[in-house]
Amino acid sequence: MGGFVSFVGAGPGDVGLLTEKGRQCLEKAEVVLYDRLANPRLLRYTKANCQLIYCGKLPDRHVMRQEKINDTLIEMALAGKRVVRLKGGDPSVFGRVGEEAEAARNEGIAYEIVPGVTSSIAAASYAGMPVTHRDYSASFTLRTGHACQENELKTHSDDELGDTIAYYMGVKNLYHHCQVLINKGFPPETKVAVIEWATTGKQRTVEGTLLTISDEVKANNIQNPAMTIIGDVVALRQKLVWYEEKRMFGKRLLIAKASAEESKLERYFLNEGGEAYAFPTLKTEKKSISSHELKQIRLAEKLVFLSPESVTILIESLLAHGYDIRDLPRQVYSLSEKTKKALLSIGIRSEKITEPSHEMIKVGYVNKPISAENNSKLITTHHLQIDDRFEVIDKRLLNEETWETVVFPSQSSVDWFLAALKSYGYRDNWIKTISFAYIGQRVKAYAEEKGFTKIDEEVQRELALGYWK
Ligand code: SAH
Repeated sequence: MGGFVSFVGAGPGDVGLLTEKGRQCLEKAEVVLYDRLANPRLLRYTKANCQLIYCGKLPDRHVMRQEKINDTLIEMALAGKRVVRLKGGDPSVFGRVGEEAEAARNEGIAYEIVPGVTSSIAAASYAGMPVTHRDYSASFTLRTGHACQENELKTHSDDELGDTIAYYMGVKNLYHHCQVLINKGFPPETKVAVIEWATTGKQRTVEGTLLTISDEVKANNIQNPAMTIIGDVVALRQKLVWYEEKRMFGKRLLIAKASAEESKLERYFLNEGGEAYAFPTLKTEKKSISSHELKQIRLAEKLVFLSPESVTILIESLLAHGYDIRDLPRQVYSLSEKTKKALLSIGIRSEKITEPSHEMIKVGYVNKPISAENNSKLITTHHLQIDDRFEVIDKRLLNEETWETVVFPSQSSVDWFLAALKSYGYRDNWIKTISFAYIGQRVKAYAEEKGFTKIDEEVQRELALGYWK
């Protein structure tokens, strides 16, 4: 099959604002080229063997030039790959999709354009102002504030500016744009809001007028990405503000490990207005279970499953060898609540235990070396490793933010968190400065044993409410 390119809008930042179609594209992709403004958490939807290429464009430092991006897109598609070009917001709004699609067309490569939620509308909504309103605004204009030579002429080419105006890429030249509008007859007291990192837990909004806003922006050190919204609708924010009032708004949390459970926690805190990031992402490498091992399992008296994955993988192997669950020993144990649930979902009751005894056969994956005797009864179903495709992303997020707290949902999450920090070259002093929260007393004790000392009571209370489940 020939290659195919999907130009996908990642939405403005909030991971929940990706379209269903965009998600399907990511799930099917073999290569993803993504921008700095596309939320990197979305890349977890990709398959483990999907290649991830960062085309991070900073305003002043182009990591990957446009021609190189086009060339890479084309090269991958011509090699027969399903390529996703993931762009912040909507690909057609100041996203250069026209140029990239044209380059694909010139090579005879088929493509699609999947729209996304553009940041102007999203930023306005998340700051508590609708871009149009029956009483205040009957039109809405999207403009670029970026003053490159070609754009300079077009930026204010039109006298009909509209009731509400959004400036993309406009913080740097904000003063200039405001002056132009005043010269065109806009009242100097026209309201202006600038929203930085809209729709994320890092969102900051400053307000002012055409006269005062650029000083406000400077005073608050507002940086890119930021959206400027000009017009009477800005006043509605006083009444309609909602996102910035969320319980966890602005809270900066790391979640240790990015598997299903942790991603659920991450999503919960994001939805509550926090800036949460789960890492490291792990990849599971399944191991084939030999017929000799299956025989051992079938003949065992007591069998203990170490994790939900071990359940799935063992059942798959049984079926592949012509057996089914009736060939499992009668006495089945599980090491965690999650494992117990996984067993129950396939009709097997198990007794939950905290420590496997010597006579039990264990199936699953063991993170740490265990004693030789215990080891002899271990049948390994898979190996877990840090997914190195996420290293660039993890490092970028770790360095870009100041994180307050790390959440440990399980004992193994503590180990994975520390292993990732170590493999990325971070020093131990992280542990001393960051506070932590945990699920369960055992996890607390384990984290303390590893050197974490300060508990974040606010997050701890939030976890105890249990709404995240
Ligand atoms: N295609 C994108 C825009 C790309 S231009 C879209 O449809 O949104 C990049 C500009 O978008 C940034 O300079 C900034 O002005 C704006 N932007 C993107 N994400 C933003 C965010 N989360 N908050 C505020 N502005 C954002």
